[in-house]
Amino acid sequence: MSKLLLIEDEEKIARFVELELVHEGNDVDKAFDGRVGLEMALSGNYDLILLDVMLPGLNGMEVLRRFRQEKDTPVIMLTARDAVMDKVSGLDAGADDYITKPFAIEELLARIRVALKKRGGATEQATHSLSVGNVKLDEDRHEVSVDGELVELTNREFELLHALMKNKNIVLSREKLMNTVCGYDYIGETNIIDVYVRYLRTKIDDKYKIKLIQTVRGVGYIIKDN
Ligand code: CA
Repeated sequence: MSKLLLIEDEEKIARFVELELVHEGNDVDKAFDGRVGLEMALSGNYDLILLDVMLPGLNGMEVLRRFRQEKDTPVIMLTARDAVMDKVSGLDAGADDYITKPFAIEELLARIRVALKKRGGATEQATHSLSVGNVKLDEDRHEVSVDGELVELTNREFELLHALMKNKNIVLSREKLMNTVCGYDYIGETNIIDVYVRYLRTKIDDKYKIKLIQTVRGVGYIIKDN
C-alpha cells in the first residue's frame, strides 16, 4: 500500500481520482490549494505526489519548486491539454512525470506504478548492501569485504555477521542469533554462537586490526556503528 497526496483544486476530479486510487489499495490525502498542499507534502511522509499545475494559493510549478528544495518524493504533474510549457518547465523543475487532462484513470494508475517502482527499486538496491566502518556486506552477492578485499566466510559465519550488521547498534542475544543462524529447529548449546563469533573475529577483527563484534557480557553480541 502506498501513501499518496493529491493536490488538485477541482473537487470532482480529486474525488474521482481518490476513489480509484483507494480502490487500488492506496492511502490518499487530498489538498485543494497549493499552499496547503505544499505544507502537507513537506510534513507528511508520502510515497508519491500528484500535483495539479493550475492551483489557487500557490501554483503547481511553485509548489514543485519549493518542495524539491526539501524532498525528492516522486511527483507526477497534472497539466492542462496542450500546455507544452507546463510539461517542459515541470520536468525541468523536478517532476518525475506528467499527465495531460483529461486523462484515462488507467493511464494515471500506470504512471503511478512506474514512478513508485522506479523509486522503490532505488531504495531496495541501497538496502542490499550493509556497511559498518570499512566492512561491507553485499546481500545479493553473499559477499563480505574489508577495505574492498573479499573475506571468505562459511554460510553460518555469513548469516551471523549479516544478523549483527543488519541490527547494528542493537545487542542480539545468543538465543536470537542461534535461531537466525542455525534455524529454529536447531537443538544444541547456544555457545555454538560463541564459536562462530571466534571464527569471525579471527577472519576479520584480528586480520584487519579492527574491533567489529563486541561482547555484551551476560547478554550477547553487538556491532556498533562508530
Ligand atoms: Ca486546477
